[in-house]
This record gives sequence, structure tokens and C-alpha cells, in this order.
Amino acid sequence: MTRAPTDDTPPESPLPASTPRLFVEATLAEGGVLPLERAQANYLLNVLRLTAGDPVLVFNGRDGEWRGTLAPAGRKSAVLALARRLRPQPPPPDVHYLFAPLKHARLDYMAQKAVEMGAGRLVPVLTRRTQVSRLNLDRLRANAIEAAEQCGILHLPEIGAEIRLEAALAALEPARLLVFCDEDAPLADPLAALAAHEPGPVAVLVGPEGGFDETERSLILKHRRVLRLSLGPRILRADTAAVAALALVQAGLGDWGR
Ligand code: SAH
Repeated sequence: MTRAPTDDTPPESPLPASTPRLFVEATLAEGGVLPLERAQANYLLNVLRLTAGDPVLVFNGRDGEWRGTLAPAGRKSAVLALARRLRPQPPPPDVHYLFAPLKHARLDYMAQKAVEMGAGRLVPVLTRRTQVSRLNLDRLRANAIEAAEQCGILHLPEIGAEIRLEAALAALEPARLLVFCDEDAPLADPLAALAAHEPGPVAVLVGPEGGFDETERSLILKHRRVLRLSLGPRILRADTAAVAALALVQAGLGDWGR
């Protein structure tokens, strides 16, 4: 499969899907020359064994996706000469993912899956049974970058600082529908439940491995715009629930159908 030409790509052969994509912090503009970080240069030169003139796609979450041409400078450093913008910067996805932080590997997995599933904002929510107290936001961001580079998106999800449940609920905009994944919800067709709502800003909430307690449950169910969602007859691990819930929301209300 090759990458299709985009809006302002001249009629030349499209790039192969294997073309590497890198997230950079720098501003991307016509004629720019981007010095690459050591780890990025090492990855391109010594892992992918790219050579001078090879194409590399870059994005920074603000200026769209650009085609760059690799210019090695020795074995361990390289720059990218920016040729042209291939895709304009789209608006950020309006799906917020609120989650009780999990322990290391599961949290890494959950962060990456939330990004692949189209979450535009990751909000770590501290509930009574949350097992993790100190959260490594840099690690969360690194997982989000890795997932964004891999899944072809141009937006780098925002990562909120950990916040208590009450404050997270209060911070939701009035128009944002809260999809509350409740392990105690009565079994009901989730797609039918979602179909009763118009597409729009949405927040998906998944609890900790220990689940929500009754006080939290009644607080959440009192939220002004809340949809109590069952994810089927089995109790899913929180990281499984993340993928299941975001799949349903994207299919029912999000960008899978549009
Ligand atoms: N330990 C709890 C389950 C927690 S599962 C118990 O045994 O009851 C972790 C989180 O995943 C839950 O808080 C919920 O947000 C979500 N989840 C898991 N299974 C679910 C289901 N069948 N329906 C809705 N949400 C679910």
C-alpha cells in the first residue's frame, strides 16, 4: 500500500507507507532545515539504514505534515531539509479520555491505545481505588508521541496533570457528553445507547482496576450530561475497557463513520 497524494502534492509518485514519520518540536516551514535529535538520527541512519536523499515525514502537531529529505552529517547526526507540506493541520479530535492511572506496562499500553483510538486529550483521574499516586507525565507523553508517529495522526494529544475525580467532572465543558464506563451498569446495547446522542464533544471515563466505589458512582451519575455505558457481560481490565469504549464511541459518535 502506498501513501496517496494529498491536497498540494504535485503529481509525482506518492511515498511508500513504510516512509518513517517523526514528531518534532520545531516549527515546520518551506525551506526549513531541521537538526534531528541524536536518538532520531540514530534510528533513521543506523536502525532503518536510510541514506542521503531518503524521504522522512515530520509533524509537530501545529503545522501539518511535511516531507523532509534526509541529509546525514556523520554516523550519528543528520538534518532534514523540508521540501513541502503534504497535509494541512486538521482540528484536534474532540474525544477526551479520562482514566484512572494504572501501573507501568498497562499504563504505557493504555496511553498508546487511547491515542491510536483518536483521543485528543488524556486526563489521568485520581479515584479512591487508583493504585498509582505519582504519575510520570514524561513517560505518558513519550508513549503518546510513539503512538502518534505510528498511527499517522498529525495531532499530539494533550496530557493533563493528574486530577481528582470531582475536579475532572467539574472541568468538563457543559456541551461535552460524559460516557461513563460503569462495570455495574445493567447490560444494554452500547451502540443503541450512544445512538441516542448527537455527535459532538465527548469524554470517556474508565475506572481503576478496583473499580468505582458507590460514592463516586453516584457523583458521576449526577453529572449534567452523562451516558452510563455497559461494555458487555464480562468485567474487562481497565486497559481492555479503554479500547472497547473508545471503539464504541468512535463508531457510534466519532470519526469511524465520517
Ligand atoms: N474490579 C472491578 C472492575 C474494575 S474494571 C470489579 O470487579 O467490579 C476497570 C474499569 O473498566 C471499570 O471501572 C470500568 O470503567 C471499566 N469496565 C470494565 N468492565 C466493564 C463493563 N463490563 N462495563 C462497563 N465498564 C467496564
